[in-house]
Amino acid sequence: MKILIAEDDALSRLVLERAIRKLDHEYVTAMDGTQAWDIFQSSKLDVVISDWMMPGMDGVELCQRIRKMAGTPYTYFIFLTALSDKYHWLAGLEAGADDYLSKPLNLFELKTRLLVAQRVTSLHRQLAIQKSELEQLNGLLFKQAHRDPLTQLRNRLQMDEDLAALQDWIARYNQSCCLALCDIDFFKAFNDHYGHLAGDEVLRVLGQTIGQNMRGRDSVYRYGGEEFLIVLPEQSLASGAVVVARVLQAVENLAIPHQTRKPAGVLTMSAGIAALIPGDSRTIEDLLKEADKALYEAKESGRNRLAVSSIESIR
Ligand code: GH3
Ligand code: MG
Ligand code: MG
Ligand code: MG
Repeated sequence: MKILIAEDDALSRLVLERAIRKLDHEYVTAMDGTQAWDIFQSSKLDVVISDWMMPGMDGVELCQRIRKMAGTPYTYFIFLTALSDKYHWLAGLEAGADDYLSKPLNLFELKTRLLVAQRVTSLHRQLAIQKSELEQLNGLLFKQAHRDPLTQLRNRLQMDEDLAALQDWIARYNQSCCLALCDIDFFKAFNDHYGHLAGDEVLRVLGQTIGQNMRGRDSVYRYGGEEFLIVLPEQSLASGAVVVARVLQAVENLAIPHQTRKPAGVLTMSAGIAALIPGDSRTIEDLLKEADKALYEAKESGRNRLAVSSIESIR
């Protein structure tokens, strides 16, 4: 272990250093509390063995400071002092010390205390490693829980959270908002003809294509099987429609062959769009229903097009 000795008396220091050398531990020495505190902050230490009475900063303050310092691995703190009465013993432990030794130093006692120190510090280190591993895993799981594994787009869970936040934001700042539901045309026939793996790849590519054609504050979610939701905060129906029309065009431009659609040609997507204006009494949920209805109209009126919630086709 690496031990910090805090002792202002030269002779006591010498005795302690010799004992620690005998017990095969490393050590650094401070001649008072202030120096000990400086060393503590810049080194990785397993144990501090500190005198109580020292000029500048005493052992109690040193111990309290060490205990208050967050984020460092646990340091085992032992008082080694001539103040060996029960009152000081208790006060030392209350200040945060783990153990208490009386002067003059007894090598056997020191050895037993350092054995315990080794056990306790290694347990703390193990716990710290496990904690950090768990935190990492937790972050990963959180991320995975909010992403669709196939397309890496945000999933329904993330969508529910984001839309709830968006609803609050719209109400608070009296904002407009636009959203569009997109659905791949004749995708069942695509899967039947080209296979499910090819279908999966299409979903991945379309997810990327949609993302590349949006603006900074817009987001895209995998809404369902072959359906995507595009959310365009602060956008009117007209400006949102420009973005979504560009997305549909980009999908068509990918020129993914689709021979079994009617008429045969390339893979396309349809979309339904709806928007809230500032001061609107409708909710995002209403908007979703309207966009879904519009999507149905886009499908009915020929596919590969964008329809607004009022049936009118604008592409
Ligand atoms: P429409 O133009 O009316 O939307 O017709 P469609 O065939 O696209 O619609 P339908 O609802 O009949 O079929 C949707 C298809 O999407 C069926 C299903 O196999 C496919 N699909 C859904 N999720 C996935 C997926 O994760 N991977 C693949 N490859 N296909 C999927
Ligand atoms: Mg002293
Ligand atoms: Mg569908
Ligand atoms: Mg479809």
